[in-house]
Amino acid sequence: MSEPSVFTRILGGEIPSEIVAETENVFAIRDIAPQAPVHLLVIPKQNDYRNVVELAAGDPALLAEMIGLANSLAAEHADGDFRLVFNTGPHAGQTVFHVHAHVLAGGLGEESVGA
Ligand code: AMP
Repeated sequence: MSEPSVFTRILGGEIPSEIVAETENVFAIRDIAPQAPVHLLVIPKQNDYRNVVELAAGDPALLAEMIGLANSLAAEHADGDFRLVFNTGPHAGQTVFHVHAHVLAGGLGEESVGA
């Protein structure tokens, strides 16, 4: 990594953002441009993986820790149900190449996608 990601800079206090939760290896913030009533980002503290495919191959326990925190946040900030999105690659909308999960929740049922 040539320069710190926006999320690393938030974790370091260089860019203001409220850290709403953290575990040993993972932290969560509110997305600055929310796409749902609850829109949080769950992010590993270390920027070792660019996307979820690399993360799953390299450290599945860290991926599980992210999903556990997403589940706790959905229970705390909404009714417990949530959508978990990992944009993977620029053509899928990924703009920050420090792996992160979008946790979307709160009133999504009406426009719910099918299986
Ligand atoms: P992605 O497009 O999947 O890489 O997601 C990056 C997300 O980071 C976007 O949803 C942005 O709105 C969000 N984001 C970028 N800068 C900040 C910031 N300073 N604080 C909170 N969220 C941010």
